[in-house]
Amino acid sequence: MSKKNKGKAKKCGVATLKKKLDKVFSWWIRNRDSREGFNQCFTCRKWFHLKDLQCGHYVSRSYNNLRFNEINCNPQCVACNVFKKGNLDTYAIRLMDKHGKDVLNRLDVLKWIPKQFTPSELLELIQKYE
Ligand SMILES: [Zn+2]
Repeated sequence: MSKKNKGKAKKCGVATLKKKLDKVFSWWIRNRDSREGFNQCFTCRKWFHLKDLQCGHYVSRSYNNLRFNEINCNPQCVACNVFKKGNLDTYAIRLMDKHGKDVLNRLDVLKWIPKQFTPSELLELIQKYE
């Protein structure tokens, strides 16, 4: 393998693609239902510029199977996502309002299903959300 191709193969590793997808998916989540560059924090309902919002996960993103799940992820402000560690009691109420009372059970089932991403799967998701 030439030096050039080695570099390419390294760039397409799962860890790198996952990082790229984190970025693309976060922007997609923050843009969902946005208005003129602003969106509401899912939990405190205050409006923020998209750049001041984060992609807040209800179930931690360390659970691969829910890391890029559109129900599990919503725009959150730094106060809710970081300082209030996700503001999870309110997050749960908002999720049930939006998706029905059994949504927490559905997420809990998905949470425990092990998930290993393949490079091609990650590339497909990057294209979907880009
Ligand atoms: Zn908030």
